[in-house]
Amino acid sequence: MTSNTPRRVVPQPDELTQPFWDAAAENKLVVQRCQDCQFWSHPPRIMCNKCHSLNQKYEQVSGKGRLYSWAVMHMQSITGFEDRVPYTTLLVELEEQPKLLLLSYMDGSDEGLKVGQPCEVYFEKVEDFTLPQFRVLK
Ligand SMILES: [Zn+2]
Repeated sequence: MTSNTPRRVVPQPDELTQPFWDAAAENKLVVQRCQDCQFWSHPPRIMCNKCHSLNQKYEQVSGKGRLYSWAVMHMQSITGFEDRVPYTTLLVELEEQPKLLLLSYMDGSDEGLKVGQPCEVYFEKVEDFTLPQFRVLK
């Protein structure tokens, strides 16, 4: 990295999201889960999307899922990704619940990707953060 290389944008944790980032720093993927109806929510929310309970906690998930959708990025407008185009943003549906979706990205274009391909989490160090990312398995 040279001094001219733009820095990646890093997360800005708050009280609600801090446990997610703390777990990621230990290479664990956690997702918020309602303790009353067991519904998973991501991104985290104060209130359950299903039953409106405030009784939410983070629980570890398998880190396994399926490719739900993606978009190939060609524009150089995202800070820290100017030199990385094209890259592909991934939307991964975790196996724990239908439409429990997490975002990720991968280098390169979308050649060979298919909806439903298995994905698994890995952890990327960026600045002082550890970011959960997903790799698409062939
Ligand atoms: Zn609930």
